[in-house]
Amino acid sequence: MLGVALFSCYWTMLRPLNVQVNGKDVQVRVGTSAAEFIRNNDYFGAKAGRKLSIGGNVISEDGGTRYSVALDGNQKTPQDMEGVNVVDGSSFVVSDGTDVTEGSTEKTVPLAPAVQMESGGAVQFVSQWGRAGKKVVTVGDESGEEVDKEVVDPAQDMVIASRNVKPAGGKYIALTFDDGPSGYTPDILKILKDKGVKATFYNLGSQEANYGKYAKQLVEDGHELASHTNAHQYLPNLDANALRAEISSAADALESAAGVRPQMIRAPYGAFTSTEWGRAGDIISCNVLWNIDTLDWKRPGADAIKAAVLNNAFNGAIVLMHDGGGNRQQDVEALPGIIDGLKAAGYELVTVSELLSHDEQFPKEVVEGTVTMPKDAQLPQV
Ligand SMILES: [Zn+2]
Repeated sequence: MLGVALFSCYWTMLRPLNVQVNGKDVQVRVGTSAAEFIRNNDYFGAKAGRKLSIGGNVISEDGGTRYSVALDGNQKTPQDMEGVNVVDGSSFVVSDGTDVTEGSTEKTVPLAPAVQMESGGAVQFVSQWGRAGKKVVTVGDESGEEVDKEVVDPAQDMVIASRNVKPAGGKYIALTFDDGPSGYTPDILKILKDKGVKATFYNLGSQEANYGKYAKQLVEDGHELASHTNAHQYLPNLDANALRAEISSAADALESAAGVRPQMIRAPYGAFTSTEWGRAGDIISCNVLWNIDTLDWKRPGADAIKAAVLNNAFNGAIVLMHDGGGNRQQDVEALPGIIDGLKAAGYELVTVSELLSHDEQFPKEVVEGTVTMPKDAQLPQV
């Protein structure tokens, strides 16, 4: 009788259950939970899944589900396994845990405009201002990562036009002088006055301390004063603050020397990319390049400088010369012949702003140097 009771006790409490795990027979003590059974067997070699950020980066190598399991052909979670005891004859398939992505929330944030730039023209200006849009982003609870979800309201790109001047109703050409004022400027001003023509001077702010009186004189003589920025730096090398300072400090210097504050610039080396437009497009009216490069800085001789202009002249052309930055005696020598030759060919010599005024594709505020960015516009983030 006692023997039967003990056997009965063994049979119900202690006898091993026979189960299959991943196709192999395994014995387990009665009364063991399935979760405990799998844990005690070191998860049967299953590797834990990872915890991933919403951007797909690994937050932890084992932060995902610890293992995957199917019981008698039904997929279960590790949580499911906690509450059930192993039953004789059951079949487990235990495999690697799955990756889990962190929790996240959504928020709506501004979408900055980009900048698009045309190429190939001598005069660059803003033809469309950028406007911010809105987008929804997903923010990871643990990583803080932001992932774009959807654009709710598309941004409007800033667009930079790049146009050559095609004047209507006459033959016009614009002589321009860079890198001054300098000791050569008075000679150039005298020739222009004697010949009764107007030109445009892209002055350096840094030259005004010594030669500011010539900036004042050229304005009094009816020429156009514009900015070549402050210290002739290669602007794409500057960060946004330095770029803006380079432009605004030149405007300050020109204003204090000559009483006018030009918005028109010519970037040193012509270098004003979409990045510079994105950073400082709100403080200039246009960036003026050139159509005819006299290469006067190479000092090829006055005749060569003159020939470069006269042989290449066309209606709307902007001519690059220099009244500073080096020995400009050849420019002084070439200038009377250039003016006479252009006049003989029927050209009227005008300032750049006047040249632009003869072509309707240039907006009035660009021609007049009164550009202001609209209040609802925004610069791109570049
Ligand atoms: Zn220059």
